[in-house]
Amino acid sequence: MSSGVAIGRVRLFQVSNLDVGESVVLENNVDSEVERFADALEQTREQIKDLGQRVKERGEDKSLFEVLSMHLMLLEDRMIVERVKELIQENRYGAEYALSCVVKEAEERYADLPDLFRERFKDVEDICRRVMNNLRGVHTQSLENLDEESVIVARELAPSDTASMRADTVLGFVTEAGGKTSHTAILARAREIPAVVGVSDVSRFVQENELIIVDGETGKVIISPNQDDLRAMHAKQDKQRVRQSRLLSIRDLESVTLDGHVIDLAANIEFASEVETIEKYGASGVGLFRTEFLFLNRVTIPTEEEQFQSYNQVAERLAPKPVVIRTLDIGGDKFAHSLNTPHELNPYLGCRAIRFSFENREIFRTQLRAILRASVHKNISVMYPLISGIGELTLANEVLESLKDELRKEGKPFNEDIPVGAMIEVPSAVLIAPDLAEILDFFSVGTNDLIQYTLAVDRGNQKIARLYEPLHPAVLRMIAMVADAGRHAAIPVEVCGEMASDPLCALVLLALGVERLSMAPYAIPTVKEIVRSIKLVTLREFGVKVLEQHRGAHIKTMLVDALPELLEGRGDLIQQIHESSLLA
Ligand code: PEP
Ligand code: MG
Repeated sequence: MSSGVAIGRVRLFQVSNLDVGESVVLENNVDSEVERFADALEQTREQIKDLGQRVKERGEDKSLFEVLSMHLMLLEDRMIVERVKELIQENRYGAEYALSCVVKEAEERYADLPDLFRERFKDVEDICRRVMNNLRGVHTQSLENLDEESVIVARELAPSDTASMRADTVLGFVTEAGGKTSHTAILARAREIPAVVGVSDVSRFVQENELIIVDGETGKVIISPNQDDLRAMHAKQDKQRVRQSRLLSIRDLESVTLDGHVIDLAANIEFASEVETIEKYGASGVGLFRTEFLFLNRVTIPTEEEQFQSYNQVAERLAPKPVVIRTLDIGGDKFAHSLNTPHELNPYLGCRAIRFSFENREIFRTQLRAILRASVHKNISVMYPLISGIGELTLANEVLESLKDELRKEGKPFNEDIPVGAMIEVPSAVLIAPDLAEILDFFSVGTNDLIQYTLAVDRGNQKIARLYEPLHPAVLRMIAMVADAGRHAAIPVEVCGEMASDPLCALVLLALGVERLSMAPYAIPTVKEIVRSIKLVTLREFGVKVLEQHRGAHIKTMLVDALPELLEGRGDLIQQIHESSLLA
């Protein structure tokens, strides 16, 4: 999911599996096992008291405080506590296994009760999960505060967890859940943290502190590697370092095809602090600033001033290079405590992105004011996410115009002609692209969502990941339709989804008529090398043939077979494309 090799010690993070494998202890160790269980109970009690104290101090959520008090009581429940001790003493079960059995017994007991009481089983599970985490030494704290280099093993990581990782302590991670274009994946790639997702049950097979290797390129995870594995993976790390420094050397070269077409290669960023990587990898600007990350992992909403500082910092540092700021895209797989995002059964189809902004008009207005104020640098464009129809676009623009009025009256400067674009990531927007083009200054195709909404495949669900096909003919025809609509209306069409970062997919996008790509900064050098090795006219002819195909698998084969001709014999580059293509 995210290239690179990580070699390090396991840190289990919020692994909450209550169904653990059978284990027994030696007769002499029974007492210490009971003691270990008692320690885990005590640790859990302290954690809950601490949590309760913090909830009380913040004066928020009385019901949460009540739940925590009830959990404290459950920790005294004889049916749980005494029963676990009994299983350890009489059957010589390991504490984890004894607890796992007791949870199953409780589940059976509660199953026979009326609905109202059955709900209480969730609390039993919840508290037992905490005890289990303490028994196993699993970390539930923020990943921000890790004190030593580790490889994280988790059932699932939310984008906010990944956002809080520090690249100097998190060497890599493995999760049981997750898809290649989930925001957790996107962040891992952006931060160049090697990662593998979709490894069923991995947390059951590893121990805290065990040595582990994560190869984000092949998707291989080796638990307790032997000397040969270690030697091979260290060699692979060295090879990657050499490749990396060679790629960096092309940073200052122009992104121009052999037949003289300039292809704009911009960067996607999540934090203002990423401007450095933009310079490091030679991006032409920022094609997508995902501003929602400013709202995650915090208790309060960022003020207009704080947002202004963030946008301004990026725009000022990069000027005159363009910076596209996307308004809040919260919802889907990104939730912010500070925003009180609603709990929905189907969040990807729910109150997400521009819909959330319309529902929370003050938050939208504050953000647009901050963007407008930062637009004095003239290199800022604003972009709306998840536009599905003309009505949303005109409404968003009305809000924007009303804020321009407001700023005029306040005498605050801004760019009167700030360009306005929209993400094209919903199939309906593709079909009405010619209409949208009349109102917009540019399109930016969000392939991550366009694929999931076109093919009805959740981008974060590993169970159906094989159906998530970037090269599906329906997806490619949609992209071509947007490119055509942009060309007719003479407005630029950019692709800022992960397809732009993937070398094979990037080639297809150029073949279909896209001339601007925005991607994770690390991907820019490889894509630039491709651009510098192709003739656009040949590639476009190839694009016509691609659109005639009926199956994604054929398109991939066609593409792989055509590489030697398209790249005029650049064997080294072809090899590298094969190695670094994660999506196709
Ligand atoms: C996309 O959908 O392709 C996109 C770039 O937006 P995000 O990944 O943030 O949903
Ligand atoms: Mg999107």
